Amino acid sequence: MKSMIVLLGPPGSGKGTQGEKLGTELGYVRLSTGDMLREAVRNGTELGKLAKTYMDSGALVPNDVIIGLMKDKINALGKVPGIIFDGFPRTVEQAEALDKELNVDLALNLDVADDILIERLTKRRSCPDCQAVYHLVYNPPKCEGKCDKCGAELYQRDDDKDATVKNRLEVYRKNTLPLVDYYTKAGKIATLNGVGDINAIFEEVKKVIQ
Ligand code: ADP
Ligand code: ADP
Ligand code: ZN
Repeated sequence: MKSMIVLLGPPGSGKGTQGEKLGTELGYVRLSTGDMLREAVRNGTELGKLAKTYMDSGALVPNDVIIGLMKDKINALGKVPGIIFDGFPRTVEQAEALDKELNVDLALNLDVADDILIERLTKRRSCPDCQAVYHLVYNPPKCEGKCDKCGAELYQRDDDKDATVKNRLEVYRKNTLPLVDYYTKAGKIATLNGVGDINAIFEEVKKVIQ
């Protein structure tokens, strides 16, 4: 069983959706840099103030900031059955830094075409309290506008609006796509079709982590 798993794939490819299911099923810890940064923004910390200026335009937060944050998180975890990295690493420099901390077993790359990504992101709704994600059409909450898991009111992330979404896809291509090559060379990549029924994709995900 693979225990150190990196979720690759463009924004909207389903990293959060699949990562959450996997974490619950296997008892692994999911570390999402996006969730951490949004929490920092909500709490108005120094990190949050800095990160917001980048996040609002869809740019990446600087490597040194993210690497420092993740090192602290990993060290604070102690011994756990496994970790799912969601949204990290996003650059080759971040991947090299992660390799110094632990041995990545698998980089799971979710493949989804751009037009589908845009439709997913612009109709995504997120829970501010428990970080669950929904989709207005493909994965709607049971009760409109409310989180199934905790009842909080769902919101649309600022960076899920049209203009920012396009920029995030470009940033992905330029900075994060090279990681597919990076993990392919390391013999650690598995690419899955990220289009289709969420549960059917999850079955494929479980097969590759065996
Ligand atoms: P990421 O973490 O990679 O940005 P998310 O898991 O947040 O992606 O998914 C983006 C959006 O697409 C969400 O609204 C989610 O509900 C929806 N979604 C995820 N997987 C699928 C799928 N297989 N089919 C349709 N919509 C999906
Ligand atoms: P997505 O749904 O696109 O996968 P995330 O929630 O992972 O989005 O990230 C949202 C934003 O947070 C990014 O656009 C970026 O500004 C910042 N961010 C998250 N993770 C990283 C990272 N590893 N390196 C740099 N910036 C990051
Ligand atoms: Zn919730």
